[in-house]
Amino acid sequence: MRCKVCGRDYPSLYHFRTADVCIGCYEGMSPDERVRAALPAKIFQMTTTAFIIDGYRIVKSFGVVRGITVRSRSVFGTIGASLQTIVGGNITLFSELCEQTRSEAFEMMVNHAVERGANAVIGVRYDATEIMQGVTEVLCYGTAVVVEPVEGKPAV
Ligand SMILES: [Zn+2]
Repeated sequence: MRCKVCGRDYPSLYHFRTADVCIGCYEGMSPDERVRAALPAKIFQMTTTAFIIDGYRIVKSFGVVRGITVRSRSVFGTIGASLQTIVGGNITLFSELCEQTRSEAFEMMVNHAVERGANAVIGVRYDATEIMQGVTEVLCYGTAVVVEPVEGKPAV
């Protein structure tokens, strides 16, 4: 078995965290990359903020699919971030939280698309709203579609 990230060969699945990413590579990934690694490769490739996919045409549309996550900051996180704000620089505690929350919303959206039988999601957007003090709702949405390669162009 070969890890698709580092290309190393391993004797068994025991060394893998997803179907084709080894534990070492997975540990070094950001939350966003982990979601990508865990998702079916095909649909992830076919997820775009644009409304067209080069070399493909849309043959069916299932309408909007979305994923929503609601996150409250923990007291510890808030205290840590406040300290970081005083020190200055990038507030990593908040950016990590945002990234993870977005990944979860994205993953939910893709799962809904797969459930409906789509093989691509186009026009992907994120939206975040602070619904009350310290509680943020992150919405990820897009249009679930079935695409097929346009004749004469190689399939991805
Ligand atoms: Zn690896």
